[in-house]
Amino acid sequence: MLTKFHSYETGKAFTECCDCGCNLHDVDIYIINQSFAGNECIFECAMCLQCRERMNEQLSENSRVAMFDFMHDHADMESRQERLSNNSETEAYIESCITCGKLRSEAKTFTLGAMFSGDHLIKSPFPLIICDDCEAKIAASISDETRKFWDDYIAEHFPGPPSEIDLPNKTKPILI
Ligand SMILES: [Zn+2]
Ligand SMILES: [Zn+2]
Repeated sequence: MLTKFHSYETGKAFTECCDCGCNLHDVDIYIINQSFAGNECIFECAMCLQCRERMNEQLSENSRVAMFDFMHDHADMESRQERLSNNSETEAYIESCITCGKLRSEAKTFTLGAMFSGDHLIKSPFPLIICDDCEAKIAASISDETRKFWDDYIAEHFPGPPSEIDLPNKTKPILI
């Protein structure tokens, strides 16, 4: 079930940071990313906030700004906040793409992002999904250098799929 944010590999909750290997219940916050093609999970990782921030620091300034701008320009956070409260069903957060509103059911592929503290799902602006179209747009707006960093990072940490999978936009998933 998408709203449980369990690992598709183990069928259970994530326990370890995919980068430093720390116990996710020993850290304040961690982030889960999963990419899907239809109902199939093609990529997943859970990462502690420290590793995520370290990863972000390695991205070029321009790419960080480009991603931020894309989200800022396209996601209507205000109306999202009005529509969704802390009590909203998790499904309501992830039924459509955060930046274009396309329904998840209509996206060929999409990436899911969720933020946790222990077993607690932290709501607003996460959890969220980004659809295939918007992922392609973000991919087009980031520098080659960042793209390479990302692809290498994913290849290094996640051997096997998705590097073997031919994704529609020919790029590896974007971490959100
Ligand atoms: Zn870590
Ligand atoms: Zn979209």
